Amino acid sequence: MSHVACPEGKPTVEPYRIKVVEPIPVTTREQRQAALARVHYNLFDLRADEVTVDLLTDSGTGALSAAQLAAGMEGDESYAGSRSFHRFHDTVRELTGYAHILPVHQGRAAERLLASTLLGPGKIFLSNTHFDTLRANVALSGGEAWDLPCPEARDLDSTEPFKGNIDTARLKAVLDGPEGSRVAAVIMTVTNNGGGGQPVSMANLTLTSSLCRERGVPLILDAARFAENAWLVTQREATFRDHSPRQVAEEAFRLADGCAMSAKKDGIAHIGGFLGLNDTELARRCELLLIATEGFPTYGGLAGRDLDMVAQGLTEVTDPGYLRSRADDTAYLAQVVRSAGVDIVEPPGLHALYLNAGRLLPHIPPHQFPGQALACRLYLEGGIRSVELGSLYLGTEDEHGNPLTSAPYELLRLAVPRRTYTRGHWDHVGQALARTVRDAHLIPGLRITEQPALLRQFRSKLAPIVQ
Ligand SMILES: *Cc1c(COP(=O)(O)O)cnc(C)c1O
Repeated sequence: MSHVACPEGKPTVEPYRIKVVEPIPVTTREQRQAALARVHYNLFDLRADEVTVDLLTDSGTGALSAAQLAAGMEGDESYAGSRSFHRFHDTVRELTGYAHILPVHQGRAAERLLASTLLGPGKIFLSNTHFDTLRANVALSGGEAWDLPCPEARDLDSTEPFKGNIDTARLKAVLDGPEGSRVAAVIMTVTNNGGGGQPVSMANLTLTSSLCRERGVPLILDAARFAENAWLVTQREATFRDHSPRQVAEEAFRLADGCAMSAKKDGIAHIGGFLGLNDTELARRCELLLIATEGFPTYGGLAGRDLDMVAQGLTEVTDPGYLRSRADDTAYLAQVVRSAGVDIVEPPGLHALYLNAGRLLPHIPPHQFPGQALACRLYLEGGIRSVELGSLYLGTEDEHGNPLTSAPYELLRLAVPRRTYTRGHWDHVGQALARTVRDAHLIPGLRITEQPALLRQFRSKLAPIVQ
């Protein structure tokens, strides 16, 4: 499969055609208005059949290929030593080079194994940015999660190519400082999901690798989007222009000592993941936990068919034709969003766009959640589901509900599922967004009427503030 080039400035043709379709619901504005009120302005509580274009996440939502479905039919459901495991193991081994490969049901299970074995009270993980579930697993194990993003990441409008990098000067200072002996591992998230889906350069990864190896600190990749990171390296880092994404990915894995992988992203699978490790003693301890909590080490909580579909997905995902088409798809959506008059975190990556809701809705203060207000209006206008990444997610209040801290930025994320939507869907998003922008000054802020003690973005109830 190689990509089909189109005339200058036009997106490439998708390197696949559609063989199976699933109807999506089309609803009326009145139905959507009623649905919003019913779910208390929390889009996590919508039924999927109330959503026309679902951009909540790119996790587990990609379309399977015919080859993946066929591989699934070859699944061997033996409890131990299945053919599926050996195919999965060999594929992952060849890609990553790690000595020990443990399948898990999804990425956070690999994170839990790592955090439970490497961390404990007083121990620290350092990262470009910890992903939420890793941060939660670090906290559950009694450790600390320190983020060291590069300074360029702070400027949302900057078009610096590698805003996902770790700040290597601060990394070196921490490793060689008084806290250095508490550092249990450095986790590099590629691409940096919590940091706007921005990529990490191979130069940054190489320097991080040598800082870690000189000091005997393990470097682990949070590799959920390893192929998308590799693609952006081939496009943005001069030294790697002539490399294939697969070559970059192989090299990246070999600069680290292990990886935690969610195959729901760049495995293009509905479920699955793995932990890869070189350290035999560490792998042995993780394997014991795996058996106790996930499953026998040749299935790790997955069905044989899942292992085969992930293995096939991992071979498809580094195809340059696929990656170019995905990059073009997201670039097209970025253009649609900009044309509607909404700023995004620049430059656009591959898996999602982050809309600057704070700038679009200056009349809504952070503690009235401009990102969530925009999410609700976009749903009302077009049945589009997105997710707030602002002060509903990261802000805090005192016991009387008065705002204490707000998020650094008020963002709204549009995630791009793999091989799932077409440019017709993106044009629909553009039209709904244009209507939203036209009446932006009329969009009301929201207040929380009920919230749980933890992870409130999932379970809060809200209501519009009527002036
Ligand atoms: C999704 C994700 C995870 C967690 O993976 P799950 O499969 O959802 O458990 C970890 N890290 C990153 C960067 C992710 O995007």
